[in-house]
Amino acid sequence: MLDKDDLAGIAKVGLLPSTRKNNSANGRYFFDSKRAEICIYSYPETLLHRFRTKGKLPQLRQWYSCELSYGMQLELDGDKLHCKWNSDDLRRFISRHVLLHEIGHHVSQMKRVRKGLQPDIGSALSEKLAEHYALQMTEILFGRGTLSANLHGKVSNGSELIHH
Ligand SMILES: [Zn+2]
Repeated sequence: MLDKDDLAGIAKVGLLPSTRKNNSANGRYFFDSKRAEICIYSYPETLLHRFRTKGKLPQLRQWYSCELSYGMQLELDGDKLHCKWNSDDLRRFISRHVLLHEIGHHVSQMKRVRKGLQPDIGSALSEKLAEHYALQMTEILFGRGTLSANLHGKVSNGSELIHH
């Protein structure tokens, strides 16, 4: 079970249709002085996302190591990256990793609030902290041995992440 304190202050978790603006994100965390919300976005029916990328395959495999560990298929066709899921793997990835990542943003934000600091959303550090929380909690809750494998490199390039 998650610590109740980690969830305190989250007003709602919404499932939303993906839009053009949000189609690179699996989920987002929103925070202002009044409320915190988590949105989880839908996938196209094909369960396929295509991105333009300058990355090379080994680098991309590193960046997407977590998604790959959940079963995502990754193919590079020229400068187009194809990320393809099957529904069971995607469901598991979203309900575990993505949700825990967004909760991780909330946990970090609440720590900042308690210290009287300004919100920090979208910085490389905030992504790193959220990702660390997700991997740590996944290991605690589900016993996946992914923590050490996934902490290297992946969160260092926020622009390539598909969740925020
Ligand atoms: Zn994030």
